[in-house]
This record gives sequence, structure tokens and C-alpha cells, in this order.
Amino acid sequence: MKISLNPDENIVNIVKQGLEQRGGYCPCRMEKTEENKCICEEFRRQMDDPEFEGYCHCMLYYKSLS
Ligand code: SF4
Repeated sequence: MKISLNPDENIVNIVKQGLEQRGGYCPCRMEKTEENKCICEEFRRQMDDPEFEGYCHCMLYYKSLS
């Protein structure tokens, strides 16, 4: 399992700016709750899921299985 940043620098920059503006909370979600703090609960679950491969909701991170 490997976690990497999106190879598209534009997306990385936009999401990182959003994270900064929101004090570390996910820029793709409205609620500033603990589960939406980056790295959010959804992506943590996806990282633990042996079947999941793909981007986090904001497309900042990519999880590959190999
Ligand atoms: S892991 Fe991705 S989806 Fe989750 S909070 Fe961070 S940027 Fe948003």
C-alpha cells in the first residue's frame, strides 16, 4: 500500500490552499468536525480497506495497492 500526492500540481495547490483557509479541515466538506480534519475519517477508512484503490474525496491523495 502506498499513499502519494496527486501528480497534478494544480489540484494539489488548490486543495492545500483550501486546507490552509479552513484551518486544516477538508475544503470539500461544509462541516468543520473532527472527522473532517485532514486526513479525514473517510480516507483513513479507505486506507485501511484492503480493496480500496483511488483518490481521497478532494483528490489530494492517491492510495495505490501496490
Ligand atoms: S484526505 Fe483528502 S478528502 Fe480527506 S480531508 Fe484531506 S484532502 Fe480532504
